Amino acid sequence: MATCPNCGDNFDRLGLHWWHGTCPYPELSEQQRQMLVGLLMGDGSIPDRTDNEIFHLPMINRRFLRWFDEKMGVMTTGVSLKKTAAQLAAHNRESGFSPNAAVENYHDMYTVWTRTHPYITELREWYATGEKRFPTDIELSSTVAKFWYACDGYLDFGRWGRPRAGIKARNEQNRSAALESLFEEAPVTPSYRRHELRFSCDDTERLIDWLGAPPPGFSYKWTIDSKDRYRSRKRTAYETYATHNGK
Ligand SMILES: [Zn+2]
Repeated sequence: MATCPNCGDNFDRLGLHWWHGTCPYPELSEQQRQMLVGLLMGDGSIPDRTDNEIFHLPMINRRFLRWFDEKMGVMTTGVSLKKTAAQLAAHNRESGFSPNAAVENYHDMYTVWTRTHPYITELREWYATGEKRFPTDIELSSTVAKFWYACDGYLDFGRWGRPRAGIKARNEQNRSAALESLFEEAPVTPSYRRHELRFSCDDTERLIDWLGAPPPGFSYKWTIDSKDRYRSRKRTAYETYATHNGK
């Protein structure tokens, strides 16, 4: 049961209550909208339904999901376990995707679902071609970029000593110019090669600075000053913020 912020009544399916028009859909703040856009560029998706689209965010990082669920208020329905590590490994073995998938290399997958909302229906237009494509008029604010980077970004300390950032964007291949132009207003100029945007060492520092504070659960991706600290924070993220068959 959830409480409608407008009339104060409780409903099993609050989205349906709003859809019927008895009460208006809640307003989404600018911050919530930008967060959804950034997450949709990354791990978020809006599965195909005939109407009343809902957004979902599957992730192993339960810490971030709990924070996201709270930030979205009445718009989301909590963090739920989607598949255990054992189920994921078994699925990848059976599908042939990874015939030797070992359960110890997997984490439990959690997910947060939103309720229906006209803004989510609007975002579903990203799928007009049949697969998810970033619209060309997307406004890459630092907030949008922050949540995209939290999902698909990474740091590579490699052999340079200074880290380089990258953002994976496999769904956008053959659109390198469009991807690079997203950053026209940003203080960085990444280049798109082999399914990802790559940043120089200097641009990596500018990028992290521009993105602002990391969202909970992802501080390791912001740790550019020390490889050791980066590694220990990353370990924490996988060991403490994620679970393994419920543990
Ligand atoms: Zn109501």
